[in-house]
Amino acid sequence: MKQSNMLLPTLRENPADAEIKSHQLLVRAGFIRQIASGLYSYLPLGKRVLRKVEEIVRDEMDKAGAFEMLMPAMQPSELWKESGRWSTYGPELMRMHDRHNREFALGATHEEVITSIIRDEVNSYKKLPLTVYQIQSKFRDEKRPRFGLLRGREFLMKDAYSFHESFESLDETYEKLFKAYGNIFRRCGLNFRAVIADSGAMGGKDTHEFMVLSEVGEDTIAYSDTTEYAANIEMAPVIATYEKTDAEPKELEKVETPNQKTMADVAGFLGHSLSEGLKALMFKVDDRLVLVVTRGDHEVNDVKLKHLYNASVVDLATEEETRKAMNAGFGSLGPIGVPEEVDIVADEAVRYLVNASCGANEDGYHYINVNPGRDFDVKEYADLRFIQEGDPSPDGHGTIKFAKGIEVGHVFKLGKFYSENMNASYLDQNGKSNTMIMGCYGIGVSRTLAAIVEQFHDDQGITWPTAVAPFHVHLLALNVKNDEQRDLAEKIYETLIQAGVEVLFDDRKERAGVKFADSDLVGIPLRITVGKRAGEGYVEFKERQTGDQKDLHESEILSEIN
Ligand code: ATP
Ligand code: MG
Ligand code: MG
Ligand code: MG
Repeated sequence: MKQSNMLLPTLRENPADAEIKSHQLLVRAGFIRQIASGLYSYLPLGKRVLRKVEEIVRDEMDKAGAFEMLMPAMQPSELWKESGRWSTYGPELMRMHDRHNREFALGATHEEVITSIIRDEVNSYKKLPLTVYQIQSKFRDEKRPRFGLLRGREFLMKDAYSFHESFESLDETYEKLFKAYGNIFRRCGLNFRAVIADSGAMGGKDTHEFMVLSEVGEDTIAYSDTTEYAANIEMAPVIATYEKTDAEPKELEKVETPNQKTMADVAGFLGHSLSEGLKALMFKVDDRLVLVVTRGDHEVNDVKLKHLYNASVVDLATEEETRKAMNAGFGSLGPIGVPEEVDIVADEAVRYLVNASCGANEDGYHYINVNPGRDFDVKEYADLRFIQEGDPSPDGHGTIKFAKGIEVGHVFKLGKFYSENMNASYLDQNGKSNTMIMGCYGIGVSRTLAAIVEQFHDDQGITWPTAVAPFHVHLLALNVKNDEQRDLAEKIYETLIQAGVEVLFDDRKERAGVKFADSDLVGIPLRITVGKRAGEGYVEFKERQTGDQKDLHESEILSEIN
C-alpha cells in the first residue's frame, strides 16, 4: 500500500493525557484516535494489527475445537434479570432504553445471551460438550478509563463459553483452552505468565488470568522464586482459618433468620464461619477492602462468587444490593463492604468487621452483639493480611516475589451459576434432566495489542514482532523527485507485492528525515531504503528491532526477506 494516500497521521509530541508508552506511541504513530473517554477509533494501521491479533486468536480457538459465532451487543434486560446480574453488575453495565421504553444493556460480556441460546437449542447429552466463541466489541462504563487501549469503555474481546455434562468434561476443555491461550500470547511475542486468580483454589484449578509482565500493569502477581506458583495478589490473600470453641455464647441475643437474606445475616454468616472454621477471604477491589466469607465445602460457590465479584463488588456493599444479590443466587455467600470513610489496612478491616458484625453459629439463626474474642475463641484474626514479598510461597516451595502484570486473558470455570438461574438443562443418557456445567474464557484483543506495544518499543517508537506487525516491510523512497530512486522503489514495490509480501511504500514527497522518523515510530520490522545508491541497484536493508543494517542489491531482497 502506498503511504501518500493513506490515513496515517503521525505526531512528534506525546498527547497530553497519555501517561504510558503504548498509549503515547499508538496515538503518535497514527494507529488510534480517541473520540471520547475510553472510546477509540482504529486508523488503518491500528486496524491491521487488531486483525492480526484476531487471526491468531481465531486460529488457536478453532484448533482447540471452539466454533466462532456472533451475538448482538445489545441485550434485553430480561436475560440479565434471569441471571441476577441486572441488579448486581452495577454502574459498569451500560444500560439504555428503546423507543418503547424497554430496557437493554450493551454487552459487557455474554453469558446470559449464550446461555439462553444453548438452553433453547441444546437439550441432549449427545450435543455436549460444546464450545463457542465470538470476537466483538464489549462495553463497560469503567470508573477510570485510562491508559489508552488498556482500559477502554468500548473494547474488543474474544469471549468463549463451554457447556458440559460433567466437571471432568469442563476440566478437559479448560485445559485445552488454557493451552490455546498460551499459544496465542506466545505467537504475539509476549512475555506473560498464567496466574491463579481464585482465592478459593490455592491449588489453582478454577480460574487463571494471563498476565503480560509490565511495569504499567494494574495487577500485582505474587510468584514463587523457585516454582511455577503464581497468583494475582488481589485474589490470593493469606487465608486465615478460625478455630471452633466449646464456649457457649454469652449475653447474646439469638435471632431467628430462616433465610440468610439481610446484611445482618451476612454478618451472621461471618460469625457462623468463624465458629465453623470456614474460610474468610479478603479482597482488594479498586480502593476498597472487602471481606468475603464462604462455605468451604461448596467449591462451585467460590467460583460463583468470584464471577459476580468481577462484575461488581461495590454495589454489593449496601444492604439492599446484598439482599438482591442473595436473592439472585448468592445463597450462603455474602460480601461485606468496608465503609468508605475509613482508610483501612487489611488487618484493621478484619478487626472492624469482626467487631462490628453480629455472629451466628447455627443455620437459620444468628446472634447479635458477638464479641468474637469473648464469645468465640478467635485465633489471631489480626494476622489475616495480604500476601507479601518474602513470605513463604503457598505451594510450600520458595519465597514470594512480586511483579506487575496486565491481564490480557482470563479462563474461568463457571459451574452452574448461569445454567441454574436460567434453567439450561439437558437430558442425560438415562433420559434424566440435568443442569449444564459451564466455563467462560476471555481475551482482551485490543488490550493485547497495547500490551504488545508495552513490551515492544524503544526511544524512537514501536518495534512490532513480525506476527502482529501492520506490514512486514516498510519501503522508503528517500527522494521521489529523483527518477532513479523513484523507479527502483516502484520496481521493488511491485516485486514485493507479486511475492505476497505485506509492504507499505513511503512514496510521499517528504524529507528523508521525516520518513526515517515516521518509519521508526510506526515500527514495521524490516525497512528497505532506496536512496543515493539507487543507480547501482543498491538499497539499505534495516531490521527495526535490532537496528542491524546492510546494503543489499535489489536482486537479493526477496531471498533476504524469506
Ligand atoms: P480488569 O480486571 O482489568 O478490569 P476484568 O477482570 O474485569 O479486567 P474480564 O471480565 O475477565 O475483565 O474480561 C476478559 C478480558 O477482557 C480481560 O482479561 C481483559 O483482557 C479484557 N478487558 C476487560 N476490561 C477491559 C477494558 N476496560 N478495556 C480493555 N480490555 C478489557
Ligand atoms: Mg474489570
Ligand atoms: Mg480482572
Ligand atoms: Mg478478569
